[in-house]
Amino acid sequence: MPLLEVKNLRKSFRMTDSLGRTAGQLVAVDNLSFSLKQGETLGLVGESGCGKSTTGKLILQLLRSDAGKVFFSGDELTQLSAGQMRPYRRRMQMIFQDPFSSLNPRMTVGAILSEPLLIHRLTPPKQVRDRVIELLEKVGLTAEHEQRYPHEFSGGQRQRVGIARALAVEPELIIADEPVSALDLSVQAQILNLLQGFQKEHNLSYLFIAHDLAVIEHVSDRIAVMYLGKIVELTNAEELYKNPRHPYTEALLNAVPSPDPNHPRPAALSGEIPSPINPPSGCYFHPRCQYADDLCRKQEPLLLEIGNEHQVACHYSEQVGRYLLRKAGTE
Ligand code: SF4
Repeated sequence: MPLLEVKNLRKSFRMTDSLGRTAGQLVAVDNLSFSLKQGETLGLVGESGCGKSTTGKLILQLLRSDAGKVFFSGDELTQLSAGQMRPYRRRMQMIFQDPFSSLNPRMTVGAILSEPLLIHRLTPPKQVRDRVIELLEKVGLTAEHEQRYPHEFSGGQRQRVGIARALAVEPELIIADEPVSALDLSVQAQILNLLQGFQKEHNLSYLFIAHDLAVIEHVSDRIAVMYLGKIVELTNAEELYKNPRHPYTEALLNAVPSPDPNHPRPAALSGEIPSPINPPSGCYFHPRCQYADDLCRKQEPLLLEIGNEHQVACHYSEQVGRYLLRKAGTE
């Protein structure tokens, strides 16, 4: 049984004009289905505004879905009341892109880390301080940091505090929403290593949200690529990087900086991501797709299994795959 299973999840938001009248529906997440095993990392990637963060909030029930189901350890969450959700909140934690906005600026780091331990009664009150120091040391900080306030830390240190707070309650699933996007490259590597170390130690599962494929390449077991609220490609990480079948995945891969400056990658994406309030007809990606034809403009492609646990939503996934393999062979 998977630790997390998301089935046909959908979330829309009512858009209003200046007079409060309905101006349209923004479909943020549309018919999303995927699962996550214990100890596994699923990367969820796509441009900003494609519904990744909304997906994270729907899983945690911080937002309620319009339709679909979320199962955690086999238990269905979407129908639970706030009180019934409480025990699951401890088991599922979130790490944010900017921990500064999620850390109370008036609390010391010691108080921030003590709070979940006391609320969930995970540590006897007399042992809370020892546990806080243990957590700080686990994430590469020291006991000296206990009395400091969030504004006294660097971005990387604040992210370490955010990770310590998530780990404090011994979760099984962590939803990491762009956890290293705001950090320098060298600090990014340190935080990713830290997260991977904890995963091994505690058999944690991660849903790792990112806006580009460079960050998640080395941390993901499988990757789901999202475009305008839908998954357009889902497979294991090695297959995705070696044998991409969706033109949007190709464009995201082209956006990854080339390791060889003498051989820059071709241009990545052209054009803006369309408005989810008024999405294009047929395949949502067609206005930006170099392979689009009349069929693409008229008919929406379904997400289909093409073998090797590889799912793609593209009418021409086979041809795209063959073309990209040929192109890779001549480069
Ligand atoms: Fe491009 Fe057509 Fe495939 Fe959509 S269905 S990604 S427009 S080739």
